[in-house]
Amino acid sequence: MFTKKQIVQWLQAFASEIHENKDYLTELDAAIGDADHGINMDRGFQKVITQLPNIADKDIGSILKTVSMTLISSIGGASGPLYGSLFLRASITAAGKEKLTEIDIQKLLQEGLQGVLQRGKAKPGDKTMIDVLSPATVAFEEAVGSGKNMSEAMQQMVAIAEKAMKDTIPTLAKKGRASYLGDRSIGHQDPGATSCYLMLKSLSDSYS
Ligand code: ADP
Ligand code: MG
Ligand code: MG
Repeated sequence: MFTKKQIVQWLQAFASEIHENKDYLTELDAAIGDADHGINMDRGFQKVITQLPNIADKDIGSILKTVSMTLISSIGGASGPLYGSLFLRASITAAGKEKLTEIDIQKLLQEGLQGVLQRGKAKPGDKTMIDVLSPATVAFEEAVGSGKNMSEAMQQMVAIAEKAMKDTIPTLAKKGRASYLGDRSIGHQDPGATSCYLMLKSLSDSYS
């Protein structure tokens, strides 16, 4: 069971990971985009951090909805609406809840993924955050389906997410700014796939 306190810890941990990896994410985006992914994500999540004390007593759905609105209103780049859609769809699955079971987390991931797919229209393999979020969601589902507990399912999800992030290196970008580069996008790790891995890793870390 994920408690509300652990969800708040996750958001704080993710914000810290983004802050610590701000330059790294921006360097990745410099290679195949416009060198702002770290700046964009850090701006959004530092804003989330300032909001957390005001919302930490609300239900998990309301907390995640505020995260979504904050990201949409404070991030200019593609990642604002994309992560905003992820958190918005996830918030609906957590409406009114004070804690989340394995099945609740599974729904949250599935709906978050659907939110990004609907918003960005990317497919798996297009060299975007979907390349991490999609296999990681499937890995979590499979783990829960085979009777694994939350901690085991989280570990399985993170292991797949890390591999999936690295697997974006040889692929050709078909969505977002990186797609403008054509073949020159090959050989670089996708920045959004990297921030998505950090999101899932911090989710797992805040449980254990
Ligand atoms: P921008 O490209 O507007 O500067 P960011 O640099 O913050 O925005 O985010 C870039 C990341 O967004 C990419 O690395 C990719 O993972 C993700 N991305 C871009 N377009 C899409 C899309 N259509 N669907 C899913 N993810 C996308
Ligand atoms: Mg960018
Ligand atoms: Mg930009």
